[in-house]
Formats: sequence, C-alpha cells, structure tokens
Amino acid sequence: MGKRLEIVVVDDEVQITELLKTFIECASKNSNVHTFNDAGEARSYILKNSVDVLITDYKMPKYDGIQLMEEIPPSIKKVLISGYVSEIAEERLNQLDAVFFEKPVPMKALEKIIHEQEQLLA
Ligand SMILES: [Mg+2]
Repeated sequence: MGKRLEIVVVDDEVQITELLKTFIECASKNSNVHTFNDAGEARSYILKNSVDVLITDYKMPKYDGIQLMEEIPPSIKKVLISGYVSEIAEERLNQLDAVFFEKPVPMKALEKIIHEQEQLLA
C-alpha cells in the first residue's frame, strides 16, 4: 500500500470539521483526515507529524487561520476557508501561498485540490 494523504481540518465549529471530514473521506479513499476545533492543538499536531494538506477556517478564538498557516512548514498545501474573506488584510493574503474559499465551501473545488494532492503522492 502506498503513502496516504495526511489532511488536517481546523474550524472552531464542530459541525464544519465533521462535515468536511465526511466529505473528504467520501471523495478520497486514500486520505487520513484529522480534525481540530482549536488552532493551537492543530499547530502542535502539524509540527509533530507529517501533514500534506491543511484546510483551516480563518476566524477562530485565540489565533486565526492565517497565523496558523504562518507557523507551519511551507511545503504543506494550504486552503483557507472563511465567511469573511473581505475582512482579511490584503497584505496578509498576498504573503500566503494558499487557496481561498468563502463559506459555504465549494465542495467540488475542494475535491479537485484533494485529488491533485493525491496525484503528487505517488
Ligand atoms: Mg470560525
């Protein structure tokens, strides 16, 4: 068996992480999905484990999705989801090598990204 795609999903709302986990597990038989409702816990996990893709909410208590993205290895594929994209400073957006989705998350587009990352595993 080949390497599996390691995906971390972060949102302070449990319903959203559960929805995304269910969707990704249906779309990809080759992925392990790890969900977190606390950005700090997600950060600790990512720094201690091999992770291929981070899908994170922007607006969360303590620190936001962009801060989380800034503190993890650049090699991780990053997807930022937010109901508030227009509130994020453009300067911060431009510095990030990330894909942005507004909520509700466009599932087809997310599926495409997951499949692209699976191809990279080989
Ligand atoms: Mg939120």
